[in-house]
Order: sequence, then structure tokens, then C-alpha cells
Amino acid sequence: MIKKFESVNQIRNYIKECKNSGKTIGFVPTMGYLHEGHVSLMKKARKENDIVVVSIYINPTQFGANEDLEKYPRNHERDYDICKNAGVDAIFFPSNDTMYGENYYTYINVECLENNLCGKSRKGHFKGVATVVAKLFNIVSPTRAYFGKKDAQQLIIIKKMTEDLNFDVEIIGCDIIREEDGLAMSSRNVYLSKEERIAALKISKALKLVKDKIENGEKDSKIIYSYIFEALSKEELINIDYIEIVNVKNLERVSTIETNVLIAVAAFLGNTRLIDNYRYIDA
Ligand code: AMP
Repeated sequence: MIKKFESVNQIRNYIKECKNSGKTIGFVPTMGYLHEGHVSLMKKARKENDIVVVSIYINPTQFGANEDLEKYPRNHERDYDICKNAGVDAIFFPSNDTMYGENYYTYINVECLENNLCGKSRKGHFKGVATVVAKLFNIVSPTRAYFGKKDAQQLIIIKKMTEDLNFDVEIIGCDIIREEDGLAMSSRNVYLSKEERIAALKISKALKLVKDKIENGEKDSKIIYSYIFEALSKEELINIDYIEIVNVKNLERVSTIETNVLIAVAAFLGNTRLIDNYRYIDA
């Protein structure tokens, strides 16, 4: 039986018991509507820890006023079964009152990393992400926490926050899980119409194209940018939010692709905003 906790005290007591008997805690924070991407994080956590805790919480502070907070997909029963099959020990699903009581005043800004890429079009998004993750770390006090590389900027920000605020947790980045045809898995993919779903493939295809180009020696960011721009702008159903080629340390643009570079794309298909990326690491 998976344990389900709604209150901070309940989960804290459970974690205390586990830690008292010397167990390590692997933690996977999610917003639910789980898919194989989430499952890959849970399975990695399962392998590397004695206890696996998943949180399911649609965090309002990371959604902008015109975003999809209200209609974000939810399916608690299915999520529960997915967690059970992945060998999860406990689910934490707090209410908004539990996470942000009356007169909530405290937020975290990871300066310099939060205002470009996704942070540019989603103002305040990473302030909400950093705040909720910090709160969850304090509640769950995990040994290790697992985050997907699909949300590359999020992972970079969480790592920096963990370092800067001395959280005693190891942050583990996990590979992007894709549909068979290449589309990066996302809870938001259910919003796509049939036509948008087909058009969305252009994003992963463009990233695959530039991966091949880079591996074959093309290192000029402008040229790499133009490959992606051409592929996406030809597609009527795609509205490019950004194409960025940045250094993973500071998220600043680079003119030459060397060492550790993130090539990140965000695009709208109708009202649905999808992100994907390719990270080049010089061997
Ligand atoms: P979310 O529920 O969208 O907040 O995602 C929870 C965690 O799952 C985050 O760390 C995401 O980066 C990760 N995740 C979401 N989609 C994928 C994917 N396709 N592959 C790997 N990790 C993912």
C-alpha cells in the first residue's frame, strides 16, 4: 500500500521514522497527470534510495495570470496507480492552504538565471518554482531529488538554489523521455489537436537535426539557430516563443558551441506552450 499524506506533520513524521531507521529518501516533485517521463524519475529514485516519495501539487505561484492553472490536467486515481506500479512508497499531495496559508510572504529568487528563456515569457514562473521546491525540500528533507532535463532551466535553477542555500540534498538530472516519434513527453500534450500534435513533432526534429549538425562539426550558433528557426517558422501551426543557445552555467548566449551548451526551444501550438532542448557536452 502506498501511503498518502496531505498534511506537513503527517509526512514529516513518516520521514522521521524512515530516517531514524537509517533509510535514504528519494524525492520526485511533480504536478501530477503522470506519464513515462515522471515514471523514469521514480524508477531512478527507486533504484538509488530505500524510500521513494512523490509529491503531486499543482503549484499556483508558478502560473501566470493568463496561463493554464485552472485547466491543468488532473487524474488522481490514474496517478496513484502509476506511482504504485513504479514502486513509490508515499505520495504527498498538499492543498493550497497547506502550502500557502493566509498571509504568505516568503519567496525565493534565483537571480540572473530566472529572467531569460522561459522566465522571459513566464514572468515570475521560476520564483514560484524555486519557492515551492524549497518548501518541499524542507518538508520532505530528501537525500536525493530527481528532476527532468526537459525542464532544463528549472533543473539549473534548482541546482543553484540548492548550492546557494546549502540544502542538504543531492539534485539528480534525468534524461528526457520521448514518445516513439520523438515528441518530448509532457502532461500538456493532451491539449494538442491532431493537427497540432503532428506539427509539434517539428520541434524535436529540428533539435535532432542540429544535434547531427553539431556532431558533424558545425559550431556557429547563428547557423544552428537558423536551422531551427527555418524548420519551425515554416510550420503554420507553430508560434515560436524562443530559440536560445546558451551556456548552461549562466544561461547567457554563446556565439560558438563548445563545452557545455544548451539549445532550448519553446513554442506555442494554439494555446499550448511546449518546450524541448538538446544539451551539447563536449567529450
Ligand atoms: P511536472 O509534473 O511537469 O512539473 O514535471 C515533474 C518532473 O518531471 C520535472 O522534474 C520534469 O522535468 C520531469 N519531466 C516532465 N516531463 C519529462 C520528460 N518527458 N522526460 C523527463 N522528465 C520529465
